Amino acid sequence: MKGAVLYGPRDVRFEDRGTPKIVEPTDAIVRTSATCVCGSDLWPYRGLNPINGPTPMGHEYCGIVEEVGSAVKTIKPGQFVIGSFFASDNTCPHCRAGYQSSCQHREFVSTAQAPLLRVPLADGTLVATPEVPSADLIPSFLAVSDVMGTGWFAAVAANVKPGATVAVVGDGAVGLLGVLSAKQMGAGRIIAMSRHAPRQKLAREFGATDIVTERGNEAVAHIKELTKGIGADSVLECVGTQESMMQAIGSTRPGGAVGYVGVPHGVDLDGEKLFYAHVHLHGGPAPVRRFLPELIDLVWKGKINPGKVFDLTLPLDQVAEGYRAMDERRAIKALLKPQNQGHGRQKINAT
Ligand SMILES: [Zn+2]
Ligand SMILES: [Zn+2]
Repeated sequence: MKGAVLYGPRDVRFEDRGTPKIVEPTDAIVRTSATCVCGSDLWPYRGLNPINGPTPMGHEYCGIVEEVGSAVKTIKPGQFVIGSFFASDNTCPHCRAGYQSSCQHREFVSTAQAPLLRVPLADGTLVATPEVPSADLIPSFLAVSDVMGTGWFAAVAANVKPGATVAVVGDGAVGLLGVLSAKQMGAGRIIAMSRHAPRQKLAREFGATDIVTERGNEAVAHIKELTKGIGADSVLECVGTQESMMQAIGSTRPGGAVGYVGVPHGVDLDGEKLFYAHVHLHGGPAPVRRFLPELIDLVWKGKINPGKVFDLTLPLDQVAEGYRAMDERRAIKALLKPQNQGHGRQKINAT
């Protein structure tokens, strides 16, 4: 089986990786209906996170269960499933508290840009849809696997309430879906920060009421101006730089909350500034598993369409072009389709 392998800065290859097999009795093998490139894949792609030799890539996936280990009880072959980037048992104290991405037995899923994938702790990690979905729903279920779940967590961590004023820092897929999440949670006003016309348009489609194009202190000043000098009740930080983090904290009203999901790169917070900001800070790697049942239900019923963030679809063997397009910001997010496989429903209808 061929899959994506990162060799070094801007060098992704589609090459033989060997076929994944059940290793632990709690594993499942999933045939991916679709996978994609993540904004966070661009950190190692750009050489900003060092890698140790050739590294298989991919952590966002949905697809049909092909095989399960002997200890797997609830997940069955033939089911269409969605999982997250951290496999979790969903039974330990951290999982029960809703922090599955801090599971005591968590394992990072990092081989998803391939037609087949081994998922550890299948019963805890994977959630099945009621039936195999139609092909048009696949992009939205794929988005639920990470970017939708992460944007949703940003909104939950920022304590978005009905009627609230929300600001979103970052116009990547997570930021845009943070806008969608805030809208779904009933925010009254949603200020998206973006200077790219196509992303502004999608932000408005997802529910943004205002667009701020400035960055840093100028962006904070603009948010203050839009909120009569008060600041936003909830701010979603979806970038992970020093500037974006300070922009988020500065845009929040005293007593408000920042939900931060951008993986920090070089962020250094000043204790005194934090002390006087009077804001709640909560974030981290999103416990997407907590939200899967609810988000799957919203997609299944057609209430949200997060798959709109995929503005480029490529055959999986062109994965390198997916990385290039996202690196050069020609695409918001690239969906990758494995070749030579029918979609599940067609297979089921045929039998
Ligand atoms: Zn991701
Ligand atoms: Zn756990």
